Amino acid sequence: MTLAGSGFEAEAQAECREYSMGIGSCQPGGREKVDKWLGRAWRLLCPPTCVLCGANARWIDICAGCETDLPRHEHACARCAVPLAGSIAGGLECGQCQRRQPPFDRALCAFDYRFPVDRLLQALKFRGALVYGRVLGELLAARVESVADSLPALIVPMPLHRRRLGERGFNQAYEIARPVARRLGLPLNSSGGVRLRATREQSLLDAQERRANLRGAFAARQAAWPAHVAIVDDVLTTGSTAGELARTLKKAGARQVDVWCVARAAKWGHA
Ligand SMILES: [Zn+2]
Ligand SMILES: [Zn+2]
Repeated sequence: MTLAGSGFEAEAQAECREYSMGIGSCQPGGREKVDKWLGRAWRLLCPPTCVLCGANARWIDICAGCETDLPRHEHACARCAVPLAGSIAGGLECGQCQRRQPPFDRALCAFDYRFPVDRLLQALKFRGALVYGRVLGELLAARVESVADSLPALIVPMPLHRRRLGERGFNQAYEIARPVARRLGLPLNSSGGVRLRATREQSLLDAQERRANLRGAFAARQAAWPAHVAIVDDVLTTGSTAGELARTLKKAGARQVDVWCVARAAKWGHA
C-alpha cells in the first residue's frame, strides 16, 4: 500500500489551509459552521478520494478496502491501551496499571502506530496535510462510537505550546479532534486546557526526567469543568503527557478523564 499521489493531497492541503487560516482557531463556533458548509460544497464538487490508493471513496477520504487493511489496535489494557497478549479477554488492565494507575481513567486508541497510520500522522504533523487529520479523526470517532460505553460532555484537544503553534501554524490534535466532536455531536474546547511550557519529547526521557519535564506543564483555564472529559491526541506513547493533562483537569473539577488517540506506539512507562 502506498500513499496516493501528491496531486489530491496538495489540493486538499491548500483547501484546508485556506479556510483554517482565514477563519482562525480562536472562533471555534464560527469555524465549525464554515467547516460544515465548505465540507458539503467540497464533496459536491470533488467526491471523496481515498488518501491511500486514490480510488473513489465513500463519505470520508478512505476507501473500504484500505480502511480494512489499517492496523487496528486491539487486545489492549482497558486503562492505558498498552497492547496485551491476543488471548487475554477485553476489559482487563495491564500489570503496570494494576500496580500504579495513570491519572486518566480510560485510554482508547484506534490503530497501532504502524504503516500507513504512522506516515499519515507524520504528514499531518510535519507537512501540514490537514486532510489526514480529518480522515483519522473520522476513523477515531467511529471507533469510539463502537466501543465506548459512555460519552464525555466535552472534548479537549491536547494543547500545543503557543511557540510551537506559531511555528507549525496548527495543532494536529485539534485537527483530529474537530471531526471527532462533529461526528459524536460533542462540544470541543480548544482554549480551556493550556500548555504553559514547550516540553521535551517524553519518549526520549526516563521516568524521573519525564516527571520533571511535565511538572506544571498545563493549566486549566476554564472556570467549570464537566464531570466527564475526553482528551484527544495523535499518538499515545508513554501516556505521561496525557496523564499530566488529565491530572490538571481533575484538579480543576473533572472526575473522569478519558484519552482518545489515533494511534498507540509500543513504548510504555506512565510516570
Ligand atoms: Zn484506498
Ligand atoms: Zn495499562
